[in-house]
Amino acid sequence: MIRSITQQKSEEEILRLLEGLGRVFIIGCGTCVTLTHTGGEPEVEAMKEKLSDKGKLITGGVVLPVACDNLTGDALTKYGQQIAQADVLFIMTCAFGVQTVAKQLKKLVVPALDTLFIGKETALGQFNEICLQCGACILGETGGICPVTSCHKGLVNGPCGGTNNGKCEIDSAKDCAWTLIYYRLKDLGTLDTMRRFQQPRNHQGEPKPGKLVISAS
Ligand code: SF4
Ligand code: SF4
Repeated sequence: MIRSITQQKSEEEILRLLEGLGRVFIIGCGTCVTLTHTGGEPEVEAMKEKLSDKGKLITGGVVLPVACDNLTGDALTKYGQQIAQADVLFIMTCAFGVQTVAKQLKKLVVPALDTLFIGKETALGQFNEICLQCGACILGETGGICPVTSCHKGLVNGPCGGTNNGKCEIDSAKDCAWTLIYYRLKDLGTLDTMRRFQQPRNHQGEPKPGKLVISAS
């Protein structure tokens, strides 16, 4: 399952963002940030204590099941009084959750976390970015291994030449993505696809934000 990968902002930044805001309501989330230990029940409880120690009044807190859900506004109505008493909603979710709350409630929001990437837990407690949503997927020609995220230089037309015994020249602890792709294609008997030229990518000006409208017909 893919997850929104986050890390908690530094205490210094949190206190700067909350400067002048004495009453705080804290919101966590039961999905991605619970898995990454950045905004689940224990982290929300720890944050309540930390902010109380710094002189903030915690009017309340909740860990929503899925903060980025469209029903988040409804889920928060039962905390209406505690939220009304707060100067700010301090949100320990990824940026999707923060934006969802901001859209549904007329209240100042402050994020507690930085959203790093959309990733997958590839080993226990280890999260990796496996797709940048580049909009020009070439997995069909790379044996299902993404060079955009796996290669340190994001090369799409083969290795850089610095590969050392199958390891990446930038990080020797990491396998060279193109070595992995080579052996994968060799195993599959489709090594010829490595010869196919991939068009240069525009790294400067992809139009943002991404948008897709699915026609009803
Ligand atoms: S090439 Fe890589 S980054 Fe681009 S869409 Fe495919 S998996 Fe994602
Ligand atoms: S050594 Fe391999 S993974 Fe590292 S930058 Fe070069 S091609 Fe990419």
